[in-house]
Amino acid sequence: PCTDFDVAYFHSYAHLGIHEEMIKDRVRTETYRNAIFQHRDRIAGKVVVDVGCGTGILSIFCAQAGARRVYAVDASDIAVQANEVIKANNLSDTIIVLHGRVEDVEIEDKVDVIVSEWMGYMLLYESMLGSVITARDRWLKPGGLILPSYATLYMAPISHPDRYGESIDFWRNVYGIDMSVMMPLAKQCAFEEPSVETISGENVLTWPHVVKHVDCCTITIHELETVSTRFKFKSMMRAPFHGFVFWFDVEFGVPAINSSDSNAPPAFVEAPDNQVTDTSQRKKRANPNEALVLSTAPEEPPTHWQQTLIYFYDPIEVEQDQLIEGSVTLTQSKENPRFMNIHLEYASGGRSFVKESVMR
Ligand code: SAH
Repeated sequence: PCTDFDVAYFHSYAHLGIHEEMIKDRVRTETYRNAIFQHRDRIAGKVVVDVGCGTGILSIFCAQAGARRVYAVDASDIAVQANEVIKANNLSDTIIVLHGRVEDVEIEDKVDVIVSEWMGYMLLYESMLGSVITARDRWLKPGGLILPSYATLYMAPISHPDRYGESIDFWRNVYGIDMSVMMPLAKQCAFEEPSVETISGENVLTWPHVVKHVDCCTITIHELETVSTRFKFKSMMRAPFHGFVFWFDVEFGVPAINSSDSNAPPAFVEAPDNQVTDTSQRKKRANPNEALVLSTAPEEPPTHWQQTLIYFYDPIEVEQDQLIEGSVTLTQSKENPRFMNIHLEYASGGRSFVKESVMR
């Protein structure tokens, strides 16, 4: 059933500003376009569903790549504009706009391809992946293509003295006045909730840990209700440790089985404990027969997703090679299923901590 939460959620996508921001994110939009064209032999002459079409941009890319029919589905009123755009571009014979939820609309065909831009902050915020799974289970032919095909959420410990200083140490001297009594409140206000901001690779203390790897062909809604993992990091430097950064990437399948290259490198090299130890593999994407990756990592060009940070109230001084261990659990909030609860436990240098936060 469509809840009040859904009504508010779809209403937020009726504003053009949010679509403008996504479209102007060239890293995002060009990677999708390149991926769609790279997979044109799986799209040309075929039936596609665009889960959450927004302005219709991905549906139009699919039509340009030769799709015979595209079902462009969106529950938000932006679907009305999408339909206008499609008419104005003479694509109404190919692209059918369905104004409703993928959970509710009817499509007579089975589809060959699902395309969707469903990723939220920290990958899973907004929980739109569930709607892609629903579309897959309702309409995708066996062996059909889902773009993107895989998604991975990462985390890593960070040091960010500048940010800590400007929010907290600032109160030590305000126009010559000592306002340090404000510091406990400043920590609470600045660091209670996750913060979306762009950091650089230099803030990251060591290799990331894979929190969750999703295969869009097999993932279930049930599996997404709770995502939990244990981590173990070894800081590569001595630094004040301020919190954890989360980011994600998505991968657009390996194009065409015609490349006959079964020795292609794996998408990433994962150590047994989920810690990524070699990211150089991920850089070698120039070959047109390799999967395209849309990455929101700190060392990559910035996107509108930025990174998501969870700061501690007080930094922990870590030595080089000091261990940082713990666990993180992401669950849908009871308050609003679109929100996400983040339960973080971490220990280092003999002290342990718990931090609860909610992404609203
Ligand atoms: N594909 C567009 C818009 C992506 S934003 C682009 O790439 O620019 C995600 C869109 O999905 C929003 O417009 C939102 O209204 C829509 N959406 C989210 N969940 C949906 C669902 N269950 N059914 C239909 N549309 C949905």
